Amino acid sequence: MRVEIDEHSGCCNGVRRAIEQAEQVLSQNGALYSLGAIVHNETEMDRLRHKGLSTIGYEDLKNLQDTVVLFRAHGEPPAVYNIAKGNNIEIIDCTCPVVLQLQKRIAATYHEISPKGGQIIIFGKNGHAEVNGLIGQVQGNALVLEKVEQLHSAISDRRIDLTKPIALFSQTTKDPQQFQQLGELLRTAVLEACGDDSQLSVFNTICRQVSSRHPNLIEFAKGHTAIIFVCGKESSNGKILSQLCASVNPRTYSVEHHNEINPQWFGPDDFVGICGATSTPKWQLEEVANYLKNL
Ligand code: SF4
Repeated sequence: MRVEIDEHSGCCNGVRRAIEQAEQVLSQNGALYSLGAIVHNETEMDRLRHKGLSTIGYEDLKNLQDTVVLFRAHGEPPAVYNIAKGNNIEIIDCTCPVVLQLQKRIAATYHEISPKGGQIIIFGKNGHAEVNGLIGQVQGNALVLEKVEQLHSAISDRRIDLTKPIALFSQTTKDPQQFQQLGELLRTAVLEACGDDSQLSVFNTICRQVSSRHPNLIEFAKGHTAIIFVCGKESSNGKILSQLCASVNPRTYSVEHHNEINPQWFGPDDFVGICGATSTPKWQLEEVANYLKNL
């Protein structure tokens, strides 16, 4: 059996930067709080916990004083910064620059269109930390659509007013094709309602590190007889990308750890490709590759 790791896989810049900053503080202090999991990957979180990282929730943050807390790459709403400030908490702000820019863009657009009765729509997952951070920029005044199919019901029950300005954004890790489909459907609906689409702005804010993985992974999955996709069970980006691999290579196995691999999945003639989500570090891919090579 031959084994190859996808050269484009590994943590994205935002997650890698947060992990590196956490490790830097941990090497000096031996302990650090992180507000939420730095990465949706239990194996990597276990490694960081062994170095002294403790994950806390929002209720814990309210009760902490005079300490240091890391804010992860997903970003936080202004209310959370205010809690930290009020409690004299030093923030190690690892908000990804791409997310930070998106937060500012949403806030500026809202400022521009809300006096005209305009509306912000975000294609994203309700309750996801990044989405909470985004809607926090506009005091919660945004409609979140999780799926393309939700558009029509949002229009028919008047949660979307097609006659007013609309700005459509995306969570950075959503599926690019679905976002494009949503934008086109919304444009068609606006044209039908108003006769022109000048009041609709569609901002493709999917991170390039995510969108470029889609065509790369399709080629990688097609070029191997079987795929092992390594990601945490909680990773939304991982779910999207592993489904993408499975759509072109039915022999795609999604695992979090090499001990979930059944050796009988593979034969001696297989050429197995190993890839992962934006939250899967390279060392985990290498661990899986070494495991397979030693079967
Ligand atoms: S996926 Fe992109 S936007 Fe999200 S943390 Fe990674 S680099 Fe930043």
